[in-house]
Amino acid sequence: MIESGVRAASDDLLAAIATALDCPIDLLCAEAPIRGGEAQDLHFRRRTTLPITERKRLEAKLHLSYLTVKGLLRGIDYEPSLPLPVLDVDEIGSPAEAAQYVRRLWRIPTGPIRNLTEYLEAAGVFLMPCNAPNKVDAVTRRCDEGWHVTAYNSAMPVDRSRLTRSHELGHLVLHYQTFGENTEDEANQFAAEFLTPAEEIYPQLEGLTTRDLARLHDLRMHWRVGLPFLVRRAGDLGCISERQQRSFYQLLNSRGLMYRTADDALPAETPSMLQRIIGVHQRDHDYSLDDLAQAALMTPARFESDFLTTPVEHTSFRQGLRLVQS
Ligand SMILES: [Zn+2]
Repeated sequence: MIESGVRAASDDLLAAIATALDCPIDLLCAEAPIRGGEAQDLHFRRRTTLPITERKRLEAKLHLSYLTVKGLLRGIDYEPSLPLPVLDVDEIGSPAEAAQYVRRLWRIPTGPIRNLTEYLEAAGVFLMPCNAPNKVDAVTRRCDEGWHVTAYNSAMPVDRSRLTRSHELGHLVLHYQTFGENTEDEANQFAAEFLTPAEEIYPQLEGLTTRDLARLHDLRMHWRVGLPFLVRRAGDLGCISERQQRSFYQLLNSRGLMYRTADDALPAETPSMLQRIIGVHQRDHDYSLDDLAQAALMTPARFESDFLTTPVEHTSFRQGLRLVQS
């Protein structure tokens, strides 16, 4: 963001920046810049290989997403229906135990989590689609308002997207203002246990061999996770040896199954919380597209394509949305 006090930028430059970010010019002048401290709250999946310019661009996009959520929540009494705890990994024992704790807290039934996105949204995590380079999966910010924002790469296949969302949840639960060398590993361990509890998946991975690719495919459909993830999980749990793990990766590579870019059969998990909030504005506030875009600090065209083109899906959670009469 450009601080008004140091506005050396010409109107032409401002217009160019606004076009690049697809946001109104007013936003660049009016809104406070990202504070230095906030940048520490950001977690990039695969951040290590990210060039600094890309990182800055994503920070700006995340900040815009935050402002969009904040703007759209004005006039709405919003309360997440599930708690999002902050846990100390040393106190609870391990990232896996933290994941088990959250599963219990949220009363998630044993077995696969059918719709992870529903749980995250119920816990106050706004999932915002974003165009990002292929090597970036998501970036998350824990906010002071009691809700949080994850901007995710909208081009990810479903299994990678679920793993990413679970990883980001791990950061939100475990890494509130604590950043160590093991942060990424801990989020990965949290995600693995959250999506596939060891106790349940161990017997299903035991005795796996590279001749069992069909079994691996079945497990993928059942747990809704990626094939390479399952191979790694089998290795981490000691169900297969390191040598077998390498053979599996070679096999997946040779069949083109290692890095999918499109998904075949797993159902997509489309976020819908913001659409519900928009619905309240449309119904009870009589907001037009221009009003909504203005509240979201977006251009009407971008707002429409991001939020008004996907139908809102049924969710089993109480939404915790109430209109505030003003
Ligand atoms: Zn991470």
